[in-house]
Amino acid sequence: MRVLIVEDNAELARQVKSTLEHEMYVVDIASDGEEGLFMGETEPYDAIILDLGLPKLDGLSILQKWRSAGSEVPVLILTSRDTWREKVTGLRAGADDYLPKPFEFEELLARLEALIRRASGHASPFLACCNVILDTNSARVTMDGNLIDLTALEYRTLEYLMQHPDKVVSKTELTEHIYDQDFDRDSNVIEVLINRLRGKLKSDLIKTRRGLGYQIRGASDR
Ligand code: CA
Repeated sequence: MRVLIVEDNAELARQVKSTLEHEMYVVDIASDGEEGLFMGETEPYDAIILDLGLPKLDGLSILQKWRSAGSEVPVLILTSRDTWREKVTGLRAGADDYLPKPFEFEELLARLEALIRRASGHASPFLACCNVILDTNSARVTMDGNLIDLTALEYRTLEYLMQHPDKVVSKTELTEHIYDQDFDRDSNVIEVLINRLRGKLKSDLIKTRRGLGYQIRGASDR
C-alpha cells in the first residue's frame, strides 16, 4: 500500500515514514500544502495522512480541493489541538478519520489500517485466498498455517492483489502502488516479482491475463 504524508514538521514526517515502512508501506512525503495538493492529485495513493496546519496551503483547503475533484482516497487528518471544531470541520470537508497531536505511532498505524480496509470494502484485517492468508496488521503471510518469508516488495504486490480480488491489475497499476515516487519504474520488474511470489506460494494463485495484467480470484475476508 502506498501512502502520502503531507506534514511540514520534517522530523515528525520522517518518523511516521519510517514507522510505516517498517510495516511494509511505501511512503512519499510532501512538506508544504502546494506540494501535497499536487502529489495527491497526480499519484494514486491508497491513503493520505494530512496535517491541517501547513505552509502555502492549509490542509482543509487541500482536502476540499481533492474531494471536489472527485477523489475518494481515504484521508486521515492530523489536528494540532483536540478541539471539536477542527475535528468537525475536517470530517465535514471529507476526512475519513482524524488524530490529535501528539499521537502514538501505534494508534496512527491502527487507524490507517482500518481506513484502508474500509475503503477497499474489507471488514477484517485478514485476507484469505485458497490456503493463503495475509494478515494486514502484522504484514505476515501464511500458507496452510506456515509462515512464508516475503520481501517487502513481494508482500506489497501480494497485498495489493488480494485487496482487489477478481480485479485484473495492470503492471502499471501495481508499479504505482508498490514503489515510491523516487523509484525508477520498470514494469519488467513486476514479472520477476510475480514469478518469485508464485515460486514461494507454490501455486497458481496469481493468474496472468495476457496483455492485461494479473488477477487473484475469489479472495475473501477471514
Ligand atoms: Ca504543521
